[in-house]
Amino acid sequence: LSFAELGLDPRLVQAVAKLGFEKPTLVQRKAIPLALQGQDVLCKAKTGSGKTAAYVLPVISSVLRRKTTDPTPFTAGLILVPTRELADQVYKAIEQFTAFCAKDITIARLTENVSDAVQRSLLANVPDIVVSTPSRAWHSVESSALSLSKLQFLVLDEADLVLSYGYDEDMENLARSVPKGVQTTMMSATLSAELDTLKGIFCRNPTLLDL
Ligand code: AMP
Repeated sequence: LSFAELGLDPRLVQAVAKLGFEKPTLVQRKAIPLALQGQDVLCKAKTGSGKTAAYVLPVISSVLRRKTTDPTPFTAGLILVPTRELADQVYKAIEQFTAFCAKDITIARLTENVSDAVQRSLLANVPDIVVSTPSRAWHSVESSALSLSKLQFLVLDEADLVLSYGYDEDMENLARSVPKGVQTTMMSATLSAELDTLKGIFCRNPTLLDL
């Protein structure tokens, strides 16, 4: 399968080609079509496998498509990661794709090292996609700076680490703040018992990709 055959918006397929991605990796070939069909996915994937593009491309594609007919701004995608470093990487990955094809897609990154005032002003513009640690995301929801009332896509990257970092309460609070039908993708290096807890909190009935 080529990128053009995965079902992504053609503008995004072009952006991927401009970035020099010739062929989708295994995790991208498996996860992208499922996500575009609206399925929840739980995927075993390590760093280096191309997992970031596997979950951000379907989100960007869907937001791109919706914005052509409905430009009303709302936060459609929330990507939760356990560390600031990963938040930076994911933010840059999204920027890289949108720079070529969707400059009007707005992204905000919320992490512990950014002041409340700065995060508030980032969120005041109603970003399409938010990349955050669970504690920052919950803090922003609790203080009404971030609304998840229309959220469509929720991603948990390095899900096996999220609970071990002590984010359980934040995750439960966030789960209560998102709409019932939100589509979920969980990426994890291991399929440990901890994931069952997260799955219970978040997923409807995820398709398991044990690659
Ligand atoms: P990740 O596993 O998401 O951390 O990605 C590892 C690296 O692979 C990143 O630098 C990506 O830019 C790159 N990458 C991801 N998908 C592809 C692809 N299909 N072709 C070439 N490089 C890729």
